[in-house]
Order: sequence, then C-alpha cells, then structure tokens
Amino acid sequence: MNIKNFFSKTKALESGCVVWTANKTNGGYGRFRNGKRLVLAHRFLWEWINGPIDDGLLVCHKCDNPTCVNIDHLFVGTHKDNSDDKISKGRWSNGDRRGTERGKSKDWLEAARVYFSENPTASAREWIASGNCPVKSPTTASAYKKAVVNA
Ligand SMILES: [Zn+2]
Repeated sequence: MNIKNFFSKTKALESGCVVWTANKTNGGYGRFRNGKRLVLAHRFLWEWINGPIDDGLLVCHKCDNPTCVNIDHLFVGTHKDNSDDKISKGRWSNGDRRGTERGKSKDWLEAARVYFSENPTASAREWIASGNCPVKSPTTASAYKKAVVNA
C-alpha cells in the first residue's frame, strides 16, 4: 500500500473528518491488507507520518469517529487514556478488559511521571538518554511525556 492508494480509499467530509471508504472492522476502524499483515488504516497513517509506535500505545481519535483517518484528528495514547476517554464519552462498559497492557503502560507512565517531575524542562530524548526511560523510541517516549505533562 502506498500513500496515494491509501488516500484513494478515503473521502473528506464537511465535518473535517476524512473517512475510510473500504473494508472496516466491527468497531468501525478502517482496515486493509498490507502485504501479509492486516493493518488498521488510522494506525498505518500515523506510523507512516510519525514512525512506528510501541505496541502498548494506541492511536486514538479526538473526533470519536473510528473510521476517520485525518491525521489532525489522531493522537497517541495509552490504553488507559483510551478507556478514560471512552468512559468520559459514556460508551465503555468493561474497563478491565485490557488489564495486562494497562499494567504495563502504567509502569511506564509512572517512570515518566517521576522523571519529568524532577526534570520538568527535559525533552523525551533526554529522558531516553538518562537511562530511566523504559522505551527506546523518541515517539513513544514523547507520547508518555505528553501523557504525564498534560495530566
Ligand atoms: Zn475525524
């Protein structure tokens, strides 16, 4: 899948959302087969633009429209962010379903919280360089930084 083919399967709406018009998951996320892998359209686009993100993180929708692939409507969050978001939007009934991943994300968030409370002006790269960061990817590290700094 190249990016031109990708956008040929989308349609811009007046609302600002760019929706996936091809195959979708039961949850409404756009999906397609990329080589041998079945991938989610919004996550594919995010990674194409920003580089790979860690498995423990999700690409979430600010617009609450799972079909949307407008990069401006997407943000990286943890499973907890996503479930908090869903709880606040009133459509999530089983908050513990992702217990394992949430546990993992929580440790990382805790590490980020400790580091950035001691070093409030540090960048995600400095956090990685400090050796206290459990992730190696600057994109992932800055997602955690964002999660704790905005908290
Ligand atoms: Zn949208």
